[in-house]
Amino acid sequence: MSTVAPPADDADVPRFWRELSLPGLVDVHVHFLPERVQAKVWRYFADAQTHYGAPWPIRYPLPVDERLTLLAGLGVRAFPTLPYPHKPGMASWLNDWSAEFARAHPQVLQSATFYPEPEAPVYVAEALDAGVRVFKVHVQVGRFDPRDPLLIPVWTRLEQTGTPVVIHCGSGPLAGEHTGPAPMAGLLERFPGLQLVIAHLGMPEYAAFFELAERYERVHLDTTMFGTDFTERLMPFDRTLLPRLAGLRNKVLLGSDFPAIPYPYAHQLAALCRLGLGDDWLRAVLWANGARLFGVTP
Ligand SMILES: [Zn+2]
Repeated sequence: MSTVAPPADDADVPRFWRELSLPGLVDVHVHFLPERVQAKVWRYFADAQTHYGAPWPIRYPLPVDERLTLLAGLGVRAFPTLPYPHKPGMASWLNDWSAEFARAHPQVLQSATFYPEPEAPVYVAEALDAGVRVFKVHVQVGRFDPRDPLLIPVWTRLEQTGTPVVIHCGSGPLAGEHTGPAPMAGLLERFPGLQLVIAHLGMPEYAAFFELAERYERVHLDTTMFGTDFTERLMPFDRTLLPRLAGLRNKVLLGSDFPAIPYPYAHQLAALCRLGLGDDWLRAVLWANGARLFGVTP
């Protein structure tokens, strides 16, 4: 059990990590997108009842500067912007925008993305040269198989560089033609050295994605939306898996999906706290694992 009380609200979050003796939080799953793309994504959530079968009122639909101030107030010391394209011809532009944003804000982990298209190896190489710290791939939104032949040179390169890739590949909250553990198991058979961060702990195929993290040294998981009241209502976690989650302590990273979450940021932290996996587990997940993976110093 944790000896520290979960944060009661966002204002209480710094008290929470201070009592855990942490210098703050590293959140591996935050989105900042170009204005027009951001507005489009938020409009999609306005229709959540149709898409997800549940309302999804976005908690932080604020201007960019207010969102940055909010994250700083919560004590999030490092976070990415995680752009993702839903069609060809978009990734390179998103990557340029993300590089610019990271240059302006030193706490931002420069992010980039890719899509199965002939130009992908070129703009991925450019992103690496420009100092990208993390890639984002969204299998359901992009509607492609991660094993797409056009991506072979990209995965080959990323296996060599070891650059982390946050990949949304589970079938929750929405399933797609290529979501689920099978395509990922296939990808890892071919590229066992990929430094992956499976988003949402692989929700809802938790057990199968835990297995990949247990088997492959560089496969991690992020906690995005995991254990929250919202997710538990839609896709309850099988609590017999808790010991395995405890065992994955050095491979689980805090993720939140800020700002498009239907509850306060503090609730994500409280949800992890109430798993009852203890202070050391929380310290690893909320700070140490992310700090190690991205080279973040207090
Ligand atoms: Zn996300």
